[in-house]
Amino acid sequence: MGNLIVRNARVVDGVSDIIRDLYVANGHISSAYAADSEIIDAAGMVVIPGLVDMHVHFRDPGQTYKEDILSGANAAAAGGVTTCVCMPNTKPAADCVEVLAYILDRAKNACVRVLPYAAVTIGQNGETITDFAKLRNAGAAAFSDDGNPVMNAEIMRKALILSAETGTLISSHCEDISLVKNYALNEGVVSKKLGLRGRPASAEEIMIARDAILAAETGARVHIAHVSTAGSIEIIRRAKEAGVKISCETCPQYFMLTEDIIPKLGPLARVNPPLRTERDRLAIVESLKDGTIDAIATDHAPHTDEEKSLPIEEAPSGMIGLETSLAAALTGLYHTGIIPLARIVELMCSAPARLLGLDAGTLKPGAPADFVIVNPDTTWEVEAKKFRSRAKNSAFIGMKLQGQAVSTYFEGVRVFCAADLSGG
Ligand SMILES: [Zn+2]
Ligand SMILES: [Zn+2]
Repeated sequence: MGNLIVRNARVVDGVSDIIRDLYVANGHISSAYAADSEIIDAAGMVVIPGLVDMHVHFRDPGQTYKEDILSGANAAAAGGVTTCVCMPNTKPAADCVEVLAYILDRAKNACVRVLPYAAVTIGQNGETITDFAKLRNAGAAAFSDDGNPVMNAEIMRKALILSAETGTLISSHCEDISLVKNYALNEGVVSKKLGLRGRPASAEEIMIARDAILAAETGARVHIAHVSTAGSIEIIRRAKEAGVKISCETCPQYFMLTEDIIPKLGPLARVNPPLRTERDRLAIVESLKDGTIDAIATDHAPHTDEEKSLPIEEAPSGMIGLETSLAAALTGLYHTGIIPLARIVELMCSAPARLLGLDAGTLKPGAPADFVIVNPDTTWEVEAKKFRSRAKNSAFIGMKLQGQAVSTYFEGVRVFCAADLSGG
């Protein structure tokens, strides 16, 4: 059981990019053929490790009408994602052992690996730091107050010191609340045209600079979530050059989309941090290539159709992304000739796994057999009705993307097959 040979595929992992056979024995990648293996002919296809998405929101517990751990995992499998790390802004917040235990228990029935972040502060109120050691022991993969930035520098400084002591990572949502308030979009040409107040780039950059300075001073690692501006990249690049232990992620919406789509898409294109300008987008693409950006995550943020039908000023922020992230990266970065497949695998698989210290995102013998068979060339249109996510709030609906997961395997078991879609 769980023995496979995938034949004739172009296998791209962190080590090589060659046509070879991939062996699976007992749910793990193997260096040799195992008896009674099922043979899968993948000629013409690309095989990559299952994606590791270090930033998703599954709304479970508390808002499962938007998404729950099982529907979120199904969406992940359809997008080639086999490890999801979910943010703690649930209701209640994942700030205690009980909520982590609930998530980990529900995750046992999920078709892919689902791991929780724990909150940095109790109730994500930015005031009282949670018990890092206890929550780490209870299964927290890392810590974050995503959605509610830790505004108090003293609290952030203490939290970074604690994270270093407990050997964990803090992912920081960098937006200075005093500058962004509840504004719906980037401050710039589009916000002026629509007559709306906007979120300036400085709101993000100020907080990244603060976190970089605190990381430098404390010697702790810090991870910056969803980087969206050219200025942010410059700060992170300089900090890295100075030896600060800083890493960062961006999301497909920031390398594929700009604020220019907001007049057309309205609330569907509302996300925090907001979609920025073409200049920012180009800087993001460049730094995905040169290594300043370490990882691609989705910030998969499900909301209902009703919520996203509100005027943009009132609609909640966020968009789903698990079912489009791989295709978006292939379309925007690979097929444009900007970034080779091996680097995309690094950005979406090996780097996030390494940042979180997970045994995932690799096809090394002994690793869990999490992999995706990808048709890199097929062109498809993103359609709301085909999403497996409970939510449909994607700004990519109607776009043509090139490249798609044909089938996804988690620990040697097929958890998604594209044919399922047409079969209903
Ligand atoms: Zn965030
Ligand atoms: Zn988020």
